[in-house]
Amino acid sequence: MTRFISLAALLALTSVAIADPKVTVQPATVHPGDPVLVTVTGVKTAPKGKALGTPLRFFNAKRGYQAVFAVPLDTKPEIITIDLEGPAKAVSLEVDDLTFPETSIVVEDELANPDKADRDRIDSDNKAIIDAALESKDQPLFTRPFRRPPGEVTSTFGEWRTFNDGHKSQHLGLDLFAKEGSKVKAINAGTVVLVRDSFLAGNLVVIAHGAGIASAYYHLSKVLVAEGERVEQGAELGLAGHTGRTTGPHLHLSVRVPGGFIDPAAFFRLALAPTTLANAREDQTKRPRRSGLER
Ligand SMILES: [Zn+2]
Repeated sequence: MTRFISLAALLALTSVAIADPKVTVQPATVHPGDPVLVTVTGVKTAPKGKALGTPLRFFNAKRGYQAVFAVPLDTKPEIITIDLEGPAKAVSLEVDDLTFPETSIVVEDELANPDKADRDRIDSDNKAIIDAALESKDQPLFTRPFRRPPGEVTSTFGEWRTFNDGHKSQHLGLDLFAKEGSKVKAINAGTVVLVRDSFLAGNLVVIAHGAGIASAYYHLSKVLVAEGERVEQGAELGLAGHTGRTTGPHLHLSVRVPGGFIDPAAFFRLALAPTTLANAREDQTKRPRRSGLER
């Protein structure tokens, strides 16, 4: 009898858990430049919502639905709200202050202080990179966790850099030590959306992973992929080098999610667990067929 009751109680609990929409957010406290992962369970259809003005791109996950968004670098310390339509309620999140380190960098004068023609080239490079990253739409093209490339961190995300002439810029990626000519591999599956010889980033590759997530690889000595190519995780994209504005060979990795560029180191810690549409269909065919009466 006791056993029967506890089983009944367990069933009741389970059904409550399914009926109640639940929103979880990772990480618990965020800083400017962090990515945020939102997971919604207990809902029947993909939620819709916004955070910091950015529409959330929810995808099918192993548990419920997930979406990732950026807390842009210029976000002030404040409480932000993740607004959700439908049964799942809005949740608040505290953005803590963060002071980024500052360094001075000496590069060739023409790179530190570009003339008008080069500044125009930089602007069109930046536009091409953002436009390519925005091609990351719809459902994820990956199912595995993102994999950090090897190499010691030589410069962190968000670092302020003062160049020869005194102008400052903020570092929008993670620099990893890499020997000249070493292989640069895709951090996850996706589509190559940009291959370009740019002024500051040198030879670069941008990959769209779907769900608004894109990764970019800078300063390559050689590119081994073409635009439009589908790549798997670990695919060789090119060889590391020091093309563009660098002080030596290394891999600069940038990751963009809806809302902006974020700290790749923080991004690799997110528990992203998508189920692709193809996988979802596969799961359905495995499910036992319902009897005619139930239909
Ligand atoms: Zn860099």
